[in-house]
Amino acid sequence: MAYELLIRGGTVVTAEGVEVADIGIEDGRIAEVAGEMSGGRGPGTQEIDARGLHVFPGVVDAHVHFNDPGRDHWEGAATGSAALAAGGGTVFIDMPLNSSPPVLDGASFDAKLQACEGRSFTDFALYGGLTPVNLDSMEELAERGVAGYKAFMCPSGIDDFQWSDDVTLYRGMEIAARAGLPVLLHAESAPILAALSAASQGSGEGPGAANAGAGGAPTAVRRFLDSRPVIAELEAINRALLFAEETGCRIHVVHITNRRGVELIRRAVAGGRVDASAETCPHYLFFTDRDMETIGARAKCAPPLREEDIRRGQIEALLAGEIDTVGSDHSPAPSDMKDREDFSTAWGGIPGAQTTLRTLLTVEIPPERIAAVAAQNPAERFGLAGKGRIEVGYDADLALVRVDTEAELTSDELRDRHRLSPYLGRRLCGHVERVLLRGREVDDTPRGRFLRPADARR
Ligand SMILES: [Zn+2]
Repeated sequence: MAYELLIRGGTVVTAEGVEVADIGIEDGRIAEVAGEMSGGRGPGTQEIDARGLHVFPGVVDAHVHFNDPGRDHWEGAATGSAALAAGGGTVFIDMPLNSSPPVLDGASFDAKLQACEGRSFTDFALYGGLTPVNLDSMEELAERGVAGYKAFMCPSGIDDFQWSDDVTLYRGMEIAARAGLPVLLHAESAPILAALSAASQGSGEGPGAANAGAGGAPTAVRRFLDSRPVIAELEAINRALLFAEETGCRIHVVHITNRRGVELIRRAVAGGRVDASAETCPHYLFFTDRDMETIGARAKCAPPLREEDIRRGQIEALLAGEIDTVGSDHSPAPSDMKDREDFSTAWGGIPGAQTTLRTLLTVEIPPERIAAVAAQNPAERFGLAGKGRIEVGYDADLALVRVDTEAELTSDELRDRHRLSPYLGRRLCGHVERVLLRGREVDDTPRGRFLRPADARR
């Protein structure tokens, strides 16, 4: 009996290492992984010659803002997931805030699920929100099958998604702990940001004055950078770890920009005090504050891009296994909000769902680390059973990638709605040749399924 699909001779990448092997696929799942499969089970009814290609587990992007329903003119599940798939992704988990309404209760969850089903080209899970107005609905969200709760420790940029004061956050974590679900944190300290932002509205003699623009006053980019320093992240991470310890809530701190922030988490975890994990984003590994100055608003994000030594430290943290996951934080906006002359009012968010894998290859992260942080770890952390590994019994979600090639990123190849990537014109390594979702090549038919986390207590 032949496998329904046999992938021949690819360099199979797992978190443990790489080896040339054949992959037999049956009913959309991986049935066998073996060197030079032959005899009884081969050849497959259908075969893909993967010699010369790396076979990665499909990217599990646990941090995207696809904004459906209600704000799909910014991005939508169809365009966002098409971009993700084009970049080797097979699963996304969508943040609750940019849709309208935001996902704060059962009804808004249902609206988002309906918007994504039948539109998504990849499988997906959904987060709910943890905000001052919806603590009473968190249990309802757990029953619907959210993968976790997102909370902001500073203003979110979306008026109808409020940030969590300490009491809200603490109570929310107690509820999340009872539901067995993690809380995802945008960890920047609101009081620190508020104080610095007020200072930077002043005479230009604030912390940014040393980096003056041509006219003597700090540039808008510098003022932004100075208003969101590393200490704002560190203070918020520390406070979140304390609350997590007290409540027994699992936490996942998203988009950490710097190794010191990561180390706070590693120390707390090593001390056995908390169950916490750390995410960073490709743009913190690739770009620096200088790029924010030269590229402008397309490279605006929060927390902001950091100095070169901090970027390098973050890569070292990733190589050392201190960072658990890499998520794109894909957060696009229409060009009238993004490509503005006035940097200070431009939307902060970088569209990157399509470029995660290539960015990681470009900054020379070894394939097995990529498999860990971009597929296996996020799938495990958010309870997505059968996802994130190339192993018997797992879904055949695979990205076939030519790694020994590089090219400039062009707008033609981007699949997201607005194609305002800060990576345009940059040379990126790797080329994604084929992407399989549950054993079938991703094509023009949206076949994405909703994934309910397996390990929540409910
Ligand atoms: Zn985000």
